[in-house]
Amino acid sequence: MKTNYDRSIELLCPTCASTFLSCQDELENEDSMYRCSSCDGEFSYETIKASNEDRIAAKVEEIKSEVFADIKKDFKKMFK
Ligand SMILES: [Zn+2]
Repeated sequence: MKTNYDRSIELLCPTCASTFLSCQDELENEDSMYRCSSCDGEFSYETIKASNEDRIAAKVEEIKSEVFADIKKDFKKMFK
C-alpha cells in the first residue's frame, strides 16, 4: 500500500484564476500575503484558501477514494 497521498493543489488567484501566486514573505505562514504576478493583486492566505475551497474539497474526495480503493485491494490480497 502506498503511504504517501500528498498532492499538491495548485491554488488559483481569486481574481484572475492564474497560478502565478507567490508568497511575499520569506517565511510562509497563515498571515502571509501572496501576490499574483498576472493581475498584480495581493491576497491573504485565507482569501486564497476560501476561493479555492471547492477545488480543495474535490481533491480531498479524490484522494479518499484512491486510499479506499487501495485498502480494498490490500484486503483482497490478504484473503487469497
Ligand atoms: Zn491574479
